[in-house]
Amino acid sequence: MSTRPLLSAAPIGGLRAGLLAVLLHAAPAAWSQPSAAPAAAPAAEQSGAAGGAAPQLAPGAAPIRFLLTFDDGPSAAGSDNPTERVLATLARNGHQDGIKAVFFTQTRAWHGGGTDIGRQLIRREHADGHLVAFHSATPLHANHRFMSPAKLEETLQRGVDDLSGLTGRAPSLVRPPFWAYDADTLAAYHRHGMQMLLTDLNANDGKIYGINFSWHKRANMLARLGETRRRWAAGAMAAVDGNTPVVVTFHDVNGYTARHLEEYLGILLDVARELEMPLAARPFYDQRDELERAALASTVRSGDLRPPLPGLWNWLWQ
Ligand SMILES: [Zn+2]
Repeated sequence: MSTRPLLSAAPIGGLRAGLLAVLLHAAPAAWSQPSAAPAAAPAAEQSGAAGGAAPQLAPGAAPIRFLLTFDDGPSAAGSDNPTERVLATLARNGHQDGIKAVFFTQTRAWHGGGTDIGRQLIRREHADGHLVAFHSATPLHANHRFMSPAKLEETLQRGVDDLSGLTGRAPSLVRPPFWAYDADTLAAYHRHGMQMLLTDLNANDGKIYGINFSWHKRANMLARLGETRRRWAAGAMAAVDGNTPVVVTFHDVNGYTARHLEEYLGILLDVARELEMPLAARPFYDQRDELERAALASTVRSGDLRPPLPGLWNWLWQ
């Protein structure tokens, strides 16, 4: 972990500081795996506080389209690689073949993007038509908000250089590790040509095994999409190319996610129907250009905006 002073960015209360201390002293390996904690947060800056009243459809509320995102990869596993498995399922599954996703990559992860297998998978993600984006350029899943300005500049430049070298194009999107950012972090992202994408739905595809059971996966998605529905019905979400993107977050380094991705896709379609949200004809994005336009329209553009973060992280950072 970093030896720099922590908690300099903002005062954090005693209980939160305690939790933070626990988080920061966790074994490095734990950081490499997705946390089970996040729940859901609006992706779009337009997402204000939606009331709890019975949803009324805004005139012309556009059909929803799921914008799939994967954090923390690629995996460097030499066999049964979960990132490869995710790529295979996106390409071919029982719901919609040829799905394209955003991969928020860790370009220098010691167990992933920093290895030959990892770099090869980043190239393949781009070659397969997905949108490769930035998450970290450090051996560990480091918190950008706790970096000095110089260190943050350095890590962002390294990430942009890494991805430009691997894919031939600079990343247009970033997602902050631990969903941790402030106005300075956001300004630094913008200086490096990247817009910040949070999430509407979080698959909670972490390491708490209870929530990995099918029923819990469905209940979680239903609850998160129900929250999103209120903003959608109120016309508070961006519509792009005739559809409302709904950003969903998974972790491609998670073997469980990789093995159950097709089931997750079915659950998304199922809960949308249950909530009577009309789906686009092709309910998952399948063209990189369209995917990128939709993602950019759902980004947080100002540090003054404080959209809720997924569950625990909102409580910790906001
Ligand atoms: Zn992450």
